Amino acid sequence: MAYNTALNIYETLHTYYGNLDWWPAKTPYEVMVGAVLTQNTAWSNVEKAIINFTDLSPQFVQDCDIAKLAEIIRPAGFFNQKAGYLKAVTAWFENYNFDVPTVQRESLEKLRPELLSVKGIGKETADSILLYAFGFPTFVVDAYTVRLCERYPLEISKSYDTVKAHFEDKLPRDADLYNNYHAMIVINAKEHCKKSKPLCGECPLADACKKQNI
Ligand code: SF4
Repeated sequence: MAYNTALNIYETLHTYYGNLDWWPAKTPYEVMVGAVLTQNTAWSNVEKAIINFTDLSPQFVQDCDIAKLAEIIRPAGFFNQKAGYLKAVTAWFENYNFDVPTVQRESLEKLRPELLSVKGIGKETADSILLYAFGFPTFVVDAYTVRLCERYPLEISKSYDTVKAHFEDKLPRDADLYNNYHAMIVINAKEHCKKSKPLCGECPLADACKKQNI
C-alpha cells in the first residue's frame, strides 16, 4: 500500500492526543451558533457571547429582536452582521423543524449547497456545522489546516477545495475520524505549530515534518 501522509499524520497525532471529543458545545444548535460566531474572532470571544444567552435554542434566536440578539453576541465582534447570519441559519434549520434527526435523514450532497446558500455561511462554517452538529463526513479546512499543509509540507495548493479533497481522498469517509483530525490539527497548531514561531521541539509531528529542518 502506498505511503499515506494524511493517514500517517492522523495516527501520529492520535497517539499523542487521543480522542478529543470536539466540538465544545452542549447541543448541535450551539455548534451551529458557535460556528457562525467564531468567524474572524478568537474562540474566547465566542465563549463570552455564548454565556450571554439565557436560552440558546433556535426558537429563542428566531423570536429574538435582531438588535437584542446583536447585543447578546457583541463580544464575538461583527455583531450586527453575525446576528443576521444567526437568524438566517436558524431559518434554514427551521426547514427541518429544528430537529437534528430530520436533518440527518437528508444527504450531504443536498445539505451542503443548501447551507452554502445561506447568508453568512461559507465553506468552513458549513462544513463545521455539517460535521460537528450533524455528524456528516465532510472534512473541515481552516487556517490551521492550511498552515500544517504548508509546513509539513503536503505539497498541495492552499485553496479550500483542494485541501478538503486531498484529505477526503486519502482518508476513510468517516465522520468520527474527520471530527478528531480537525480537532487535533487545531490543538497542535495552538500548542506547537504557532503562526509566528513554531515550537517544533516538542511537536508530535517533528520526526516527519520537514519544516523543523529548515
Ligand atoms: S514540527 Fe514544527 S512546523 Fe512541523 S507541524 Fe510541528 S510545530 Fe509545525
